[in-house]
Amino acid sequence: MNNERKDAERHDAPVSNFIRNIIDDDNRSGKWGQRVETRFPPEPNGYLHIGHAKSICLNFGIAQSYGGICHLRFDDTNPEKESFEYVDSIVDAVKWLGFEWKSEQREHLYFASDYYDKLYEFAELLITRGKAYVDSQSAEEMRANRGSATEVGTPSPFRERSVEENLDLFRRMKAGEFKEGEHVLRAKIDMSSPNFNMRDPVIYRIRFAHHYRTGDTWCVYPMYDYTHCISDALENITHSLCTLEFEDHRPLYDWILNELANAGIFTRPLPQQIEFSRLNLTYAITSKRKLLQLVNEGHVDGWDDPRMPTIVGVRRRGFTPEGIKLFCERIGITKVDSWIDMSVFEGALRDDLDEKAPRATCVLDPLKLVIDNYPEGQTEECSAPVHPHHPDRGLRTFPFSRELWIEREDFMENAPKGYFRLFPGNKVRLKYGYVVECTGAEKDENGNVIAVHCNYFADSRSGTEGANNYKVKGTIHWISATQAVPVEVRIYDRLFREAQPDAGGRDFLEALNPDSKRIVQAFVEPGLRDIEPEQRYQFERHGYFVADRYDTKPGKPIFNRIVSLRDSWGKPA
Ligand code: ATP
Ligand code: MG
Repeated sequence: MNNERKDAERHDAPVSNFIRNIIDDDNRSGKWGQRVETRFPPEPNGYLHIGHAKSICLNFGIAQSYGGICHLRFDDTNPEKESFEYVDSIVDAVKWLGFEWKSEQREHLYFASDYYDKLYEFAELLITRGKAYVDSQSAEEMRANRGSATEVGTPSPFRERSVEENLDLFRRMKAGEFKEGEHVLRAKIDMSSPNFNMRDPVIYRIRFAHHYRTGDTWCVYPMYDYTHCISDALENITHSLCTLEFEDHRPLYDWILNELANAGIFTRPLPQQIEFSRLNLTYAITSKRKLLQLVNEGHVDGWDDPRMPTIVGVRRRGFTPEGIKLFCERIGITKVDSWIDMSVFEGALRDDLDEKAPRATCVLDPLKLVIDNYPEGQTEECSAPVHPHHPDRGLRTFPFSRELWIEREDFMENAPKGYFRLFPGNKVRLKYGYVVECTGAEKDENGNVIAVHCNYFADSRSGTEGANNYKVKGTIHWISATQAVPVEVRIYDRLFREAQPDAGGRDFLEALNPDSKRIVQAFVEPGLRDIEPEQRYQFERHGYFVADRYDTKPGKPIFNRIVSLRDSWGKPA
């Protein structure tokens, strides 16, 4: 069974996982009626990476398959690091992956910063109900009083402030009367809880920072844990899926929503947080902060450098949305953190591209082949299938002539045993063309081979009866020199030499692969002269390539190597 069929069947019946089991149970019990509403909540502080793609495929995929909706929500409560540039890039990335956030009625695009008024109002409500207080300890005092894994925390001397005093202080915090760090608002939960997140977590802090959307309207900003659950509840999210590091935050998530439900703000059932394992991909980094460092320090050419594991990066590299989705399906959803091998990612892409990509010829390291007994000035047309398994996609044609470009490695003056390509006295087939016999090579004064010479057999043309009379062990690819299109090809390799470049707090910069980008001047067959950006091909014998989406100009394609034909990494070349 080929992959296309296997995957088509999979789409009909999605592979179950523990999250789907929870949703199925909820649907059976009628907890939410039959409603399924999820959200993907990125912070617009960087470009999305392949780890986010896992979360996107999960959240949007679940909503899609249950006939629900997935919201795109910007979790934008850190004014210093966020921007419209990042918002736009995230919108583009999710759309490119093929997901949308529209229901029949409306668009489900949200910003946590749109909830600032409500979040503030709810904080006052918690104060009024004795569930939050203004703490005026210094950051050091707060840290010291938090206790440890073996020691309970010490209540703040300000913990028992009156509601009136707390309200007054909180309003003055908002009015800008205090300096940053002078006061914070804390939830009043349990300083002796074994869970640190429950030891009166900070829910508001003072920041005199310009926010890209709300400008200077606010100088108090809500913390992530406080904002996230409330945003979920305001948007009627049913299942709030997040990565495992938030497992210890779930009691706080539930506490806040419960308190606000007790206060009559939200009705039950309340959104349920469910954690799954994050994606760690070998030879890649999935932390926006570290990716930003690669960009800022010039180790790569930008967020969309084809070596970056960002969505814009893998897009420019030539990965397809379908290949990425197939990868996410294959790795599945579990609760156990693990590393996924880069070869799994590349394998999913090969399986997607093998079916889709038209074939073409490219000579990456050109060497001239002269057919001495072929008439000068003569050309004839050869043809080859666009796709070997899909004859319905037709044929491509290209000229054959006296001078061709071949791959430098397809000639050896002194060939070792087992080398079946060109060497003096040996015959090979020029794929889709004639059989030729090598007669020798021309060299420059330094002894470098500058041209290979051969004679052809006029009755050996592929597809003719005579072809069968020639038994050769080697077939090589070629392009007619006069019509060949010169192109720049960028050969990318893995950005890191080590499988886990940042594991155990290591300096990932030390693991950078110095040879991750190589530029070669190559030739492609004439039919590729006028292709569009982002068109993908399989260059026979070389791998999958894409016309760079930014640098390809009419008549002048520039190619990126997406991935080689086989997984050859770490094996001798
Ligand atoms: P980073 O550490 O790179 O900044 P983040 O988790 O802070 O990542 P967010 O913008 O907050 O980035 O992430 C949005 C969503 O994507 C969150 O729900 C988060 O759990 C999920 N996510 C982030 N990284 C991964 C990953 N490696 N695998 C799976 N999901 C991820
Ligand atoms: Mg985050």
